Amino acid sequence: MPVFYKDIAACPNCGNEFPYTKVMSDAVKIKSRDLDLKPEYAEVNPLLYSVLTCPFCKFTYNESDKTTLKQTISPKQFEQINKYLGIITDDDISDLNNSENKSEEFYAKQIIMASEIYATLKKPFAVARLFLKLSWHFREKGEEDKELKMLAEILTICEKYFEKAVTDEDTIFCLFYTGYAYFRFGDKLKANSAFDKLIRGFGKSRSPYIIAAKDIRSDLK
Ligand SMILES: [Zn+2]
Repeated sequence: MPVFYKDIAACPNCGNEFPYTKVMSDAVKIKSRDLDLKPEYAEVNPLLYSVLTCPFCKFTYNESDKTTLKQTISPKQFEQINKYLGIITDDDISDLNNSENKSEEFYAKQIIMASEIYATLKKPFAVARLFLKLSWHFREKGEEDKELKMLAEILTICEKYFEKAVTDEDTIFCLFYTGYAYFRFGDKLKANSAFDKLIRGFGKSRSPYIIAAKDIRSDLK
């Protein structure tokens, strides 16, 4: 059964088209999940292919935004982004790759570049979700210091922008990862407080975050 297939993206920044690899949805199999819902994939890890880098201008973004991102970028933001892309040298990203042979190291670089761009676009929850992927990357590599550093960044964003979350999805994300970050940092009181708020507000929803929050909370008591 084929695992990958090719697709074409038009860069939201420079407009050039480039090929990239996608994972067949049938090939994605989740074996298990960690406490924070990090998926453990049976074979291929689709997250590795969820970020694209334009080989012409280095613009880096979520594949899921490929047709919608351009419309959300103002002329001023294009200018700021291109200033940032201008300081990235070819040497910095000599391993640029959007194919099935992409390295995990390049994936980590892509997340950093994409997070700079989404921060410029004032999309803090997209940045937090990218940082979450990076924290998972570090967990897989057993680099706990770096993983916790990313969790601290996620916590900062969630606490700073919580009031600005307009969708339930972002509110649930913020409360869950605030609780999870405090849980990992050993602050039971603040972890419980965030999980309680999440369960009080969204306890009736069937969100997997609610179930995970209840699981962690029962460990905390
Ligand atoms: Zn481009």
